[in-house]
Amino acid sequence: MSVQTTVDELRARPGTGDTIAIIDPVTEEQFAEFTDGGAAAVDEAVGRARESFESGVWQHLPQAARAKVLWRIADLLEARAGELAELDSLNTGMPLAQAEHNINAAVEFFQYFSGWCTKVNGTAFDIRQSGGLMGADLSVHAYTLKEPVGVVGLIVPWNGPAFNAAAKLAPALAAGCSSVLKPAEETPLSALVFEQVLAEAGVPDGVVNIVNGYGHTAGQALVDHPGVDKIAFTGSTEVGKKIVQGAAGNLKRVMLELGGKSPVLIYDDADLASAIPAAAMAIFRHSGQACVAGSRVFVQRGVYDQVVEGFATLAGKLRYGGPSEDNRAHSGPLISEKQLHRVLGYIDGGKQEGAEVVVGGHRLDRKGWFVHPTVFAQVRPEMRIYQEEIFGPVVAVTPFDTDDEVIPLANDSTYGLSAAVWTRDISHAHSLARRLDAGQVTLNCQVVWNPDVPFGGFKQSGWGYENGHLGLDGYLRSKTVFAQL
Ligand code: NDP
Repeated sequence: MSVQTTVDELRARPGTGDTIAIIDPVTEEQFAEFTDGGAAAVDEAVGRARESFESGVWQHLPQAARAKVLWRIADLLEARAGELAELDSLNTGMPLAQAEHNINAAVEFFQYFSGWCTKVNGTAFDIRQSGGLMGADLSVHAYTLKEPVGVVGLIVPWNGPAFNAAAKLAPALAAGCSSVLKPAEETPLSALVFEQVLAEAGVPDGVVNIVNGYGHTAGQALVDHPGVDKIAFTGSTEVGKKIVQGAAGNLKRVMLELGGKSPVLIYDDADLASAIPAAAMAIFRHSGQACVAGSRVFVQRGVYDQVVEGFATLAGKLRYGGPSEDNRAHSGPLISEKQLHRVLGYIDGGKQEGAEVVVGGHRLDRKGWFVHPTVFAQVRPEMRIYQEEIFGPVVAVTPFDTDDEVIPLANDSTYGLSAAVWTRDISHAHSLARRLDAGQVTLNCQVVWNPDVPFGGFKQSGWGYENGHLGLDGYLRSKTVFAQL
């Protein structure tokens, strides 16, 4: 299917609310529009999901058959990888190579969770208990049954449309749930290909439903809906808190993958040839629009100047461009004009508060929402650029001397998503992993990800997990059965 066909299909979808324009972040020009589905589309979609769930058409399908469907989804996504990558890069402005990488990851989600379909089992307990109701000793066989939680609402952000959708759809389907997916308003395109792929792979009607619209209309309606048993959300901490409040109505379960302000510790003995480019790209790639972006870099004093210079040199060399302009671009633009002004606002605030701009600190002199990768030095912990998630290519670099000085600084954040350590002393690295207050710690590497390995944030970075067995567990509930023998 061509990009134009997908755009036309999106425009033709019924909706009751406002018209939402999709703007190319590279050209700043509108290239598509669609109608906000609003609460009515959500209500209809939840009804379809509920009906399919109660009918058992998916949750009671033989496990091996469900596994086969998930694997078929992976194959079909792989076959349409070029088209999906084109849609995501057009929608987000990310380089095609990065979009292709994300689609590969989406394929891997379905492959990985396909394997779980045949392995969802409870636990058995052999219990001998004294003093039953009639005073007699009891011999009991107890066991747990793992069941799908029911109808799940999946709400995803714009920074990796296909990746984020797959990260939720694959475990939800493996668990036997029915779902309603709401893509971000800026990036609805690749979800339409998912819809076709799921149908072609054999996912029955009503099991996965896609509703397009704004967060404050369609998203909020999904969160508030009494027919939804769980919300799985990736996005900002601010919206995450609204979701917790909305979920209180029927006490639906909530999984939250939220923001971060991740610390990176670079020690004097680090392999700087690896550490500098990896740490710099962990904040500059995708214009810093990544939840695990290492936005606070702490450098041991002996190599501080070298690291700052290395970041600045790399920032000056990076190629920024749109996917159709420069096939060797390292990064694309920010997603929206709103995001551009937000990032520039943080940069201006940092300057006013007295931080030193080593490089960047301004918009690129071209069309599109591009910000020059920016390195700040002389950043103090009370500054907003140090405390708040900017979601742009902006890094604060701070010197330190000892572990006891840097660990409290690194942990001094309302977030706790990810942290990185660079040192050649491996036992030192492992000991630091235990002291860092983050759901994920990477040692001598950054931005590492795998569908097999659980991922989740501490503190205000989230609740629950994605990926791995813990990711699947979030879509299951456990029922306990006692039987007297
Ligand atoms: P938002 O929280 O603004 O939006 C995320 C999704 O929630 C969008 O689909 C949005 O809709 C929707 N939404 C907005 N308001 C509501 C509401 N009241 N009720 C229900 N849904 C709503 O995040 P961004 O899109 O700005 O994404 C960036 C954020 O996501 C960053 O903070 C980043 O750290 C985080 N993130 C976390 C990841 C993780 O795994 N921990 C991974 C990637 C990003 P709309 O379409 O209107 O935008």
